[in-house]
Amino acid sequence: MSNEKKLNGTIIVTYRCNAHCTMCNRYKAPSKPEEELSIETIKKLPPMYFTNITGGEPFLREDLEEIVEVLQTKSERIVISTNGFFMDRIIRLARRFPNIGIRISIEGMEETNNEIRGLEDGFRRGYETLKQLRAMGLKDVGFGMTVQDRNAPDLVSLYKLSDELGMEFATASLHNSFYFVENKNVIHDRPMVAGHFEDLVNELLNSNSPKKWFRAYFNHGLINYIYGQKRLLPCDMAFDTFFIDPYGDVMPCNGTKEKKVMGNLNRQSWEELWHSEQAEEVRNFVRHCDRNCWMIGSVSPAMHKYIIKPGLWVLAHKAKVWTKKKYSMYELKCCRDYRDGKLTKEMCDQLSTCDLTTVAQDGRNTQA
Ligand code: SF4
Repeated sequence: MSNEKKLNGTIIVTYRCNAHCTMCNRYKAPSKPEEELSIETIKKLPPMYFTNITGGEPFLREDLEEIVEVLQTKSERIVISTNGFFMDRIIRLARRFPNIGIRISIEGMEETNNEIRGLEDGFRRGYETLKQLRAMGLKDVGFGMTVQDRNAPDLVSLYKLSDELGMEFATASLHNSFYFVENKNVIHDRPMVAGHFEDLVNELLNSNSPKKWFRAYFNHGLINYIYGQKRLLPCDMAFDTFFIDPYGDVMPCNGTKEKKVMGNLNRQSWEELWHSEQAEEVRNFVRHCDRNCWMIGSVSPAMHKYIIKPGLWVLAHKAKVWTKKKYSMYELKCCRDYRDGKLTKEMCDQLSTCDLTTVAQDGRNTQA
């Protein structure tokens, strides 16, 4: 393959989903199994240093093991994001690929999780699956949580639970985009939610793990995001990262209001689409994108690329820990302005991507 530079890829293998999350309408706009990415198309993907397999619910694909088998030849690390419901399928795949990473979305303690995800028994199944994976010796296992008004009070408890089990803990907050088929997500009580993020940032900074210190920076950025502020780091999606949807459309990310398409891997070769004029137009869009989203898929590559800013932040805040001082959300001007009445809830709502006036796009297949 002539494209030697390794990329960061997210493969949306299906838009079908068995969960009914309150913050995502994707389950109402599923893909059809016959139009979803084929093994032949997946074989055309470029070399990657990291691959996230996601959905919908990826374990609804009956050929997921085959997909992983192909991606293992292309990617140094693979993580599957799942709601954890299909325990047997997850365990079987993990037995076959013990180096795989698994992130199970858990939205809070039992009652909150089951209510948000609309999955009966979802918490127990997800939690049991995680424990089993750990017992099997899988190292790259963890929780993922989308923090919102309803579950923010569970944030630190869930982090502590994951920590006890020696697992990763990934956070996100509410976003709106074609991917979620949603444009009405918004945080209502920002100071309350930010306060729980602040507690989490302090827990992470107090740990002995450099990885967690950088996670603290990510969560600090989430506070900034929920107040609708400019991203703390530039967004370089579509330069060395990509998303591909079930229809073979290659996109910069999953955060745009409408689907932005760089090309289609069912019909084109990777080289052709990645270097196309259409791809360049999308990169130009990204350079001027004002969505200011803060999701790990776009922030993690930015944190590696612009390491100085998060690095200095971590150093400054570790120095605080050593002098017994705590991180405060009021380090952010937006939090101070909100407290002092210079920034109101209405102003933050306006700055957010919440849009009550239009119908959400779903980015479904237009070529079929
Ligand atoms: S800020 Fe970046 S990741 Fe977010 S929607 Fe814009 S291009 Fe996509």
